[in-house]
Parts: sequence; structure tokens; C-alpha cells
Amino acid sequence: MKKEKSKEMFEEARRWMPGGVNSPVRAYGNVTETPRFISQAKGSKIVDVDGNEYIDYVCSWGPGILGHAHPQVVKEVQKACEDGLSFGAPTEKETILAKLIHELLPPMEMLRLVSSGTEAVMSAIRVARGYTGKDKIIKFKGCYHGHSDGLLVKAGSAALTTAVPDSAGVPLDYTKNTLVADYNDEESVSRFFKLYKGEIAAVVIEPVAANMGVVPPKSGYLEFLRELTEENEALLIFDEVITGFRLGLSGASGYYQITPDLITLGKIVGGGMPIGVYGGKREIMETVSPIGSVYQAGTLSGNPIATTAGIATLTVLKENPKIYVELERKAKQLEDAMRESWKERVCVNRVGSLLSVFFTDRVVNDYQSAVISDTKRYAEYFRFMLDQGIYLAPSQFEAMFVSAAHTDEDIEKTCHAIRAYSKGV
Ligand SMILES: *Cc1c(COP(=O)(O)O)cnc(C)c1O
Repeated sequence: MKKEKSKEMFEEARRWMPGGVNSPVRAYGNVTETPRFISQAKGSKIVDVDGNEYIDYVCSWGPGILGHAHPQVVKEVQKACEDGLSFGAPTEKETILAKLIHELLPPMEMLRLVSSGTEAVMSAIRVARGYTGKDKIIKFKGCYHGHSDGLLVKAGSAALTTAVPDSAGVPLDYTKNTLVADYNDEESVSRFFKLYKGEIAAVVIEPVAANMGVVPPKSGYLEFLRELTEENEALLIFDEVITGFRLGLSGASGYYQITPDLITLGKIVGGGMPIGVYGGKREIMETVSPIGSVYQAGTLSGNPIATTAGIATLTVLKENPKIYVELERKAKQLEDAMRESWKERVCVNRVGSLLSVFFTDRVVNDYQSAVISDTKRYAEYFRFMLDQGIYLAPSQFEAMFVSAAHTDEDIEKTCHAIRAYSKGV
């Protein structure tokens, strides 16, 4: 496939932006390829500046559940643009979106719109601390919650110490209230509650981890966290930036029938425009300014264009609940093709339309088991698929997203490429 124009544009971009990109994984460093510069996308297809067309399973890292440029969403957004791009004043659309979110996700009794997932989680944690009057939080190894200082952490060297920064520029002081537990491990969470009794404000988790590849929670794990946090008067925060409206209209909390205290949303909720949301129990959200003492604000929060894209996307999903049945069916076909082609030489994890293949013969159920998979093999698989016109995430540790726009023909073509690659494994 041609990539001359992408190469040229990448060279130029590198002079102006670190690594030529505005978010690191786009640079294709993990797969030693040239990132494709995109000119347009429609439905399940994405087209690069050299004219190559790909079946897209990145879907803008999750938001594109309806496929690209869905006609109804685009129409509503165009109409909204005519009326003005931003007012910095309340609009009815914010309330319409808030009510729609609550209707689909009942635990969202009161919420705030922000502009990114990072902002949503950062703010939810501030609220948890403000509400409980406690400082420490527990997060899990391998879960990503955006790039705010206190969450860019890795576990300290001794098992019971607090976290240390996972990025230069994050002061040690900013991470000392973050505790890092092991995903799917009860003991690693309980011991923190014993050691720091009365000091833990919240446990934050991706209810289905999707930033170390897809790693589902083991049976009973989320229930365990719900009970443990309640016993200890700590809040349970579900970071549903990926799972929200992905695992079904009611996200992971509906899928697993667990009611967390706070939920964060992003990606799908903006339908391709920048939105994040945090919210939950009314009593907790009433601590947010201007009615409460937890400060949080945003010039472009509740932006009318982004809000319009969100309302349109959620409305299409709500009016066509069969989409989720179809997503499940298509994702299962991909899963089956991987399992049948590669047998026990790989681990395929899937929940709904989120899936990933790990090149390892071990079961992947936490960070440790995810990171031992063969990333060189993944890179080779990625390049093979790209050559076949299939656009996957350029990292072993990102999910494959199926959208409503993927046709049976797309899925068949993808399964065919998977089978073709299996010869090499
Ligand atoms: C993407 C993501 C975020 C961060 O959202 P941004 O919009 O990139 O800031 C937070 N949490 C989870 C689970 C995510 O997948």
C-alpha cells in the first residue's frame, strides 16, 4: 500500500509537535510503522491521504459506535453550528443530554459535563475526596484514567507503599495519596483498607479493563468492591469512559448490575466531539460548586455542538437497541475466527463489542499476565492486517472496537485476514 503522502506529512508534523502527534499512541512507535494521516471516514471505512481505504476497528478509540459521520449526527451538528459554536451560558441541550444520560444510566442522578475523560475522572476524584473528607484513593494496575497527575502512577517497590509517578514532571508528593492494587485480586484491595483504615476516599476502576487490552472482571469482583467500599465508607467510582454505552445502553453498571457511587463517561457520550461526564448520587454531586464546596469549572463545558453530537448519538442508540445485539454477534464472529485460527497459542478476551487478542498461551486476567504477551508478534500481526486494509489499534494493549456500521462483508473480510495471518503464528 502507498504511504508516501502520510510519510511526508509525518515528517513535517514531527517538526511541530512532539513525535508528530497530539496523543502518543498515534505515533505507531509500538508497531514500527508510519502513522496513516487520515483524510476522511464514513461508516466503517477510514481513508488515508494516499487514498488507501481501511475497515476501521479503532473507531476513534471507542466513540465511533455508530461508525463515522453517521448521517443523523452530522445533520444535527450542522444545524447546531448555524446557531453558534459556544456561548459560555446555559442551554437547554445540556439538560436534555443530562436527562437522557440519567434515563439510560439511572445511577447518574446528577451530573456535570466536562470536555474529556481525563477531566471527568480527575473531577470525580476531587468530589469523592470533598464528600468523604478523606485523601487516599485506590486504583488498579493496568487501568487508565486519563493523564492527571495523581493517576499517572505505578506501584511503589514495596508491596504496601504508596504509588510513585509513572511520568516525568509528576511530583512524588502528588502521587502519595494514590494506592495501586492488582486488578481481579481481592487481597490487594482489602490490605489497603486495613492498613489505611478510615483514610480511603474512593476506589476507582475500569469495570471492564480496556487499557491493558481487554480484561474482564472475574465473577463477583465488582460485587466484592461494592461491599468493601460500603463497609469502609469509601466511594466506588466506575470509570466508564470506554464501557459507557458500549456494553449496552446502561454501560458496565447495568451489564453487571452494580450501582457505583460515581460514574465517569467520555468517548461515546460525545459522539466524536469532546465531552466527558461525571456524576452519580445526588447527595454526593451536591458537593460541587456553586452549590457545594468542591470547585470544578470549564469554559467550553456543555459546549452546544458537542452536546448536540452526544444527544444525537445516544438517541440513535436508544431508538435502535438491536444495535447491541448486532455488535455482540459481529464481535463474536471475530472472536471465533481468532480462536479457531490460533487455538491455544493466543488468549482472546471479549466482553460485548470490546475485544482483544493477546499473543500468549496464558490466561490474561490482570496486568502481569497482559504484559508478558508477545508485543513483537502483535506488531507483526498489526502490519499484516494494515496491509490487508484492516485498521487496528497500533498497540497490544488497546481494544478492538466493533461499530454498528461494520457490515457482514467487513467482518467476513476481517475474519479471512485473521485466518490468513494464522499461518505465521
Ligand atoms: C480514554 C480514557 C480516559 C481518558 O479520556 P480522554 O478523553 O482521553 O481524556 C479515561 N478513562 C478511560 C477508561 C479511558 O479509556
